[in-house]
Amino acid sequence: MDYPDRFDVIVIGGGHAGTEAALASARTGCRTLLLTHNIETLGQMSCNPAIGGIGKSHLVKEIDALGGAMGLATDMAGIQFRVLNARKGPAVRATRAQADRVLYKAAIRGMLENQPNLTIFQQAAGDLIVDGNQVRGVTTETGIRFHSESVVLCTGTFLGGVIHIGMDNSRGGRAGDPPSNGLAERLRAQPFSVDRLKTGTPPRLDAKSVDFSQLDAQPGDDPTPVMSYMGGRDLHPRQVSCHIAHTNERTHEIIHANLDRSPMFSGTIDSVGPRYCPSIEDKVHRFADKNSHQIFVEPEGLETHELYPNGISTSLPFDVQLQVVRSIRGMENAHITRPGYAIEYDFFDPRDLKHSLETRHIDNLYFAGQINGTTGYEEAGAQGLLAGLNAARRARGLEAWWPRRDEAYLGVLVDDLITLGTREPYRMFTSRAEYRLLLREDNADMRLTEAGRELGLIDDQRWQTFSTKREAVEQETARLKSRWIQPGGEAAARVDELTGQPLKREYNLLELLRRPELGYRDVAGLAGEPVEDERVAEQVQIQAKYQGYIDRQQADIDKLKRHEATPLPADLDYQQVEGLSNEIRQKLIESRPETLAQASRISGVTPAAVSILLIHLKKRR
Ligand code: FAD
Repeated sequence: MDYPDRFDVIVIGGGHAGTEAALASARTGCRTLLLTHNIETLGQMSCNPAIGGIGKSHLVKEIDALGGAMGLATDMAGIQFRVLNARKGPAVRATRAQADRVLYKAAIRGMLENQPNLTIFQQAAGDLIVDGNQVRGVTTETGIRFHSESVVLCTGTFLGGVIHIGMDNSRGGRAGDPPSNGLAERLRAQPFSVDRLKTGTPPRLDAKSVDFSQLDAQPGDDPTPVMSYMGGRDLHPRQVSCHIAHTNERTHEIIHANLDRSPMFSGTIDSVGPRYCPSIEDKVHRFADKNSHQIFVEPEGLETHELYPNGISTSLPFDVQLQVVRSIRGMENAHITRPGYAIEYDFFDPRDLKHSLETRHIDNLYFAGQINGTTGYEEAGAQGLLAGLNAARRARGLEAWWPRRDEAYLGVLVDDLITLGTREPYRMFTSRAEYRLLLREDNADMRLTEAGRELGLIDDQRWQTFSTKREAVEQETARLKSRWIQPGGEAAARVDELTGQPLKREYNLLELLRRPELGYRDVAGLAGEPVEDERVAEQVQIQAKYQGYIDRQQADIDKLKRHEATPLPADLDYQQVEGLSNEIRQKLIESRPETLAQASRISGVTPAAVSILLIHLKKRR
C-alpha cells in the first residue's frame, strides 16, 4: 500500500546517525519519518556504552553546538566523566563519559518522541523507490510504500552483516538483531562501490563474579565534567568508578596457542578491522614483545551487574574467551554473560558522496554513519546531523551546507571521507585536523552555533544561552584589557608572589593572563570582580593564552584562501616537489590542475599538500 501521508525526508535506521539525522531534519521544520527495525533499539550502543574521548568529544560538542542530541543524552546518562589530556593544551583536551546504556537509550528516545515534525515507524526498509536517478521514497519489507523528497540511509553494520565467534558464523546486524539483507542486495544492484569491513566487541562479564579488590579503581573527575553546552551536573545520574585490569603472560600464551581457531587468523575473515581498536588476538600477535595490555573494566549501567572489559575485543571461540578472561587477576572466577564476537558488513565507498553526503549516483539520497566506512557513535552522529540537515534543505530547494576543514572536525571528517575514501574503519583523531588549535572542544559553540541558528537547527532557548555566554566572554575580555596594574602596588605584589618575578612595568590584566604561571582566577580579581560562570572564565582564559597561536593559524588559512587563484605552471615537475606523498604526486601528474584551487579540489589532495605546492612555487620564482 501507499502510505497516505507524504514526507519531506525519510531516515532509515534509528542508530546514532539516524537519530541525529531525523532530529536535524525535523528541527528545520521538515516533515520527517524515522523508519527503523525496532523502536526499542533507538539510540542503542552496539558496543561500549561510552561517549567522547580524544577527537570524538570534539565531534560530540559540534553536534551539540548545532542543536543535536548526543551531548545532552550523555549528560543525562553519564555515570563516570573524565577529561582526558587535562594537563595538555586545550586543542587535545577531550571529555569522555561512561554511560548507562539504558538511560542513554531512554534519553534519545525521549528526545525523538518529543520532537515536533518527527514520526517514527517500526519496520525494516526493503527497497528504495527510485525514479530515473532520483530517490522518491522507501518500500518496507512488508510492502508499505512511503513517499518523500529525500532519503537518508543510516543502516550501520546491518547491511549483509555476518557475525563470527570462532569458526562459527551467522547472519546478524549485531548480536540479537537481524541483518538487512534485502536492502543490501538492492543497493548492490545500484552503481555504488561496495566493500566489506569488520569490527568486534569483547565478552561481557557479571560484576558479581569479579574480585574488584584485585583491580585498580578509577573514579571520575571532581568536579564532574559536563558534555553539552546546555547540560549541567544537575542532569547527571549517580556517579560510579571504572576499574583497570591487565592481561598477563598466561593470557598471551592462551591466545597464541589458539590463534588458528580465530576467524581472523584462519582466513575466514579477510575484511579490515579498526586499526586503533584491535582485537586482543591482534594486539598479542602484533606486539609480541609486550607481556601485558591494559583492560578498562567499565560498568554497563547503574541497574545492571554487566561489565564491559574494554581492551579484549575478540572473535576467538567461546571456550578460549573463557580461558582468556579467567587468566586475568581478579577475574579467576568470572562469568561471561555474552560472548565477544566480530562482525563483517557492507560499506559504501564514501568517495561516491558529495560534501553534503548526498550520493553522486542517485539524487536526493544521502548516506551517513558506519555505512560510509566510519566507526564510532560520534562519527556516525556527526554525519547523521549533516545528512539530515542537507536532506531537509534539498527537500525545500535550498543549497547544501557543510563546514570547512578549518571550521569543524565535522568538516575534516566529511572532507577526508569523500576525498580520500577509507580502507579501514575510519575514526576521528585530533591529528587529522590541520587547524586543531582553532577546533577545540571548548569553542565548538563559538564556531558553529551562529551557523546552526541560520540553518534553523537552534531553538530559542539554546540561542539565548549561547548569546549570553558569547557576550559575557567579550565583555570580560574587554574588562581585563582595560584594567591596569602598576608596579609597587598591592596587586603587583600578588603577581610577584605568584610568578616569582617583580612586575617591571604597567600591565593590563589580559596581558598578565597570557603568562603561563597565571590563570583566570589569579588575575581577574586583582582589579574589579571576576565572572563566576566557569565556562565564561575558561573561554576568556583559553582565548587570551593561545591568541598568538590562534592568530598564526588564522593567518595560514587566510593565506591559503588568498593563493587559491595562483596558477600552477603547465611544466611544473611534481617529482621535484619535496614533501608530497607518492599518491598525491601521482594524482597531480595525472590531473595537471591549472590553479591551486583546482589542485585542492582533487580527491586526496590535502590542505597540507596545497601548502607544500605554494612553498615550492615561491622557491621557483
Ligand atoms: P548503528 O548504530 O548500527 O544503527 C543502525 C540502525 O539501523 C539500527 O537501529 C538498525 O536497526 C537500523 N537498520 C538497519 N537496517 C535497517 C533497515 N533495512 N530498515 C530499518 N532499519 C534498519 N565503535 C567504536 O567506536 N568502537 C568500537 O570498539 C566499536 N565496536 C563495535 C563492535 C560491534 C560488534 C559493533 C556492531 C559496532 C561497533 N562499533 C564500535 C561501532 C559503533 O557501534 C557504530 O559505529 C555506530 O553504532 C554506528 O552508528 P550508525 O548509526 O551508523 O549505525
